[in-house]
Amino acid sequence: MPMQIPQLKPSFIENISQRSLHEIAFEVAQLFLSEEVSDAEIQSIITDTLNFEIPLVQLQSNVYCLELFHGPTFAFKDIGARFMARLFARFLKDENRQIHILVATSGDTGSAVANAFWNVPNIDVTILYPSGKVSLLQEKQLTTLCGNINALEIDGTFDDCQHLVKQAFADNSLQAKVNLASANSINLARLIPQSFYYFWAYAQYVAKWGSAKIAVCVPSGNFGNLTAGLFAKKMGLPIHQFIAATNANDVVPQYLSSGNFVPRTSLQTISNAMDVGNPSNFSRIMALYDDNLELVRKNIVGYSFSDDETRATMKAVAQKYNYVLDPHGAVAYAAIAKHQQSNPDVVGVFFETAHPAKFDNVVEDAIGVPPVIPHELATLATKEKVATKMKAHYELLKAYLLQ
Ligand SMILES: *Cc1c(COP(=O)(O)O)cnc(C)c1O
Repeated sequence: MPMQIPQLKPSFIENISQRSLHEIAFEVAQLFLSEEVSDAEIQSIITDTLNFEIPLVQLQSNVYCLELFHGPTFAFKDIGARFMARLFARFLKDENRQIHILVATSGDTGSAVANAFWNVPNIDVTILYPSGKVSLLQEKQLTTLCGNINALEIDGTFDDCQHLVKQAFADNSLQAKVNLASANSINLARLIPQSFYYFWAYAQYVAKWGSAKIAVCVPSGNFGNLTAGLFAKKMGLPIHQFIAATNANDVVPQYLSSGNFVPRTSLQTISNAMDVGNPSNFSRIMALYDDNLELVRKNIVGYSFSDDETRATMKAVAQKYNYVLDPHGAVAYAAIAKHQQSNPDVVGVFFETAHPAKFDNVVEDAIGVPPVIPHELATLATKEKVATKMKAHYELLKAYLLQ
């Protein structure tokens, strides 16, 4: 956590609708980084990171979708991972150091991290993924870049991969020889850039549709994305309400209704990037509101949905609005719709966090036709996979990293 959340000038918010995404991102990033990173460097990190559109699309009179999936791996995690990679590179260049990033992935994080760190100087990346347990496209996203990106196909589960990574981080004899670093979503360098697009969503809304009471709905798992929005509000962005939308892994909505935070082992769902039973950003949320349940409730409302409800939402939205949601965005849409039943005066902005083509089987199952596959994803399928197969034994991983 930052010691305190910096404040934006009120005039920045008043004039925000006249600013571009890059201008907004620069102002916000400067508040966090200006003591250590020059303006010119912040500017270049931002233009490199955000080299794609983040449009706000109207679905119906009071529901809007912020499409966060136009990055290279078609998921919102590109934004945090790309920013972090460039920030790491900037500090490593100064310190003349080399680091080795080690990540375990069940799919989306690995591909965003691999893509973001590809060809970044002074950085090697090793990604552990469970053999046969990620989708074909996800596997290709991890295993076809090569260069400084190494893929380890582990004979085991995601938990085995994560356990191996934790053992490596706890091994002092390894750390003495290899400068290991993590790229998971606890890293603040991923949260800061995720606050940019809350401002950008607001700016686009005000520019096109004027002022309103805006509720932002975030499909959540580890709650990094939603926490970045809470940062934005603390910095001065006038968001009326946050809506936390989850699948059956509803630890946070349960907390909001009962006042008890009870972590559980995660359940498998069709919105699998949100299958988190003990969200690591919960303690950040509590810290932002001084552990005050009533304050948390004033800012965040929570809803959760079953897989059947998620599929029904995808089908209804495709029929009514001719818009194809991915299963994560569908959970968020369902939450906005439910919230507006008792709060009809609120304008809902929900985040679409992944391109539906990344979950083509789930989408086809729900709406009856497959989603359109973007050219970049289609060509991936033809590229050759390069991965090192490994049994889930720590000594094997250690030998690999040392060599
Ligand atoms: C990671 C992910 C989420 C959940 O984001 P958190 O910041 O962990 O809450 C939602 N949707 C998609 C597509 C994701 O990849």
